[in-house]
Amino acid sequence: MPESPPAEPKSELDTLLAAATDHENLVIRDVAIRAGLRWHCPCGWLNPGTDQRCGECHVRRISADEPRHPDAIKLAAVRDYLNRAHRDGDARFVDACRTSLCGMAAADAADEVFLSATHYGYARAWSVLADEIIADVETTANTREVSG
Ligand SMILES: [Zn+2]
Repeated sequence: MPESPPAEPKSELDTLLAAATDHENLVIRDVAIRAGLRWHCPCGWLNPGTDQRCGECHVRRISADEPRHPDAIKLAAVRDYLNRAHRDGDARFVDACRTSLCGMAAADAADEVFLSATHYGYARAWSVLADEIIADVETTANTREVSG
């Protein structure tokens, strides 16, 4: 499992982790994640709680309780259906969003997510792209409701 680089300047948490035994290290990490001081990327990297992208693979941090907005829940249902029906369900889902079959909000989100993923070099990580599109639609829908 990759190790996260120490924060600059060293935080109290980093000092604790550096002084801990292997067993203590795992416990401290778990507590730090629970307390929101760190978040664990699916790639294995442990990131500072304030970072919105993984420092290792650059995928977006996605909240565990998303999606909650009806638009995003509908997209997640479509994605889940495609994943059950097809081996390449995530890729089909991303493709459907990019060609606006999932609606314009999803098409806009897909364009943005795909550009970012291309920039960071994970443009073929379909399941990550699908999650990011759904999270993007969720964020956009919530922002629209708050401001409108
Ligand atoms: Zn990562």
